[in-house]
Amino acid sequence: MKIRFWGVRGSCATPGGRYLRYGGNTTAIEVRSDSGHRILIDLGTGVTELAKELMAAEFGQGKGVLPVLLTHTHVDHIQGLPFFTPLFIRGNSIRIMGRELAGVSLKEVLQDQLNGHYSPLYGLENLAAGLEVQTLKTGASWPAEGFEVKTELAPHGSTSVVACRITADGKSVVIMTDVEHAPEGISPELTELARDCDLLVHDAMFSDSEYAQRAGWGHSSVGSAIAVAESVGARRLALFHHSPDSSDEHLDMIVGQATESSSVAVFAAQEGHDVDI
Ligand SMILES: [Zn+2]
Repeated sequence: MKIRFWGVRGSCATPGGRYLRYGGNTTAIEVRSDSGHRILIDLGTGVTELAKELMAAEFGQGKGVLPVLLTHTHVDHIQGLPFFTPLFIRGNSIRIMGRELAGVSLKEVLQDQLNGHYSPLYGLENLAAGLEVQTLKTGASWPAEGFEVKTELAPHGSTSVVACRITADGKSVVIMTDVEHAPEGISPELTELARDCDLLVHDAMFSDSEYAQRAGWGHSSVGSAIAVAESVGARRLALFHHSPDSSDEHLDMIVGQATESSSVAVFAAQEGHDVDI
């Protein structure tokens, strides 16, 4: 199993020379199994680049199949949807899975995103691909051919997000983004979800000193991400959802400090990079 980070930035995209190495697109992670199955986590602006790769292959011919899991629908996680060109090709089969929030289905939320105030697409029904939007319960396995996908809710400020564990080829990656655990630490349910994973991709939006000013914003410090990785027995940790204020040089400094203080191998997620799980 491999993953590729197509977008690693949180909150808003950061074009510009200070962000070139780690990348400025918002969240999107592609997971690929050895058998060629794919699952995509989130539809941030990073998916516009993935779209080009997909369109050059079967998705350009209307023969693509893609399950997508949304951690949540804050704008940095769905902003790429209206620009994801495989959705415009008849014959592609794209299934977006997420959860209901406050009695509103995922389909209603995404339909609102494409209304005329925000988009010239005027609704999901105008996308040519066969698009299916599924609201699923967390705490259960989610269907995705070629993978086992388990999910749990994780706290994100005043709301919550979907954390997931994706297993294929005898390996597991856990994606826990936009999460701020309680001061006493990670919940037993999330501990179980992440236990002994091969790679933990964890929110690390703030350095430990920055976090002191931003507690309660729904995001983690680097120190918290390391503590979680160590407590669940993760083999490696990818720091993810970089702050739009974090330049390449700042992220280099964060990784340097993290490497010194972590007993788990740690790196910062970088746009365009493949990681063998
Ligand atoms: Zn976010």
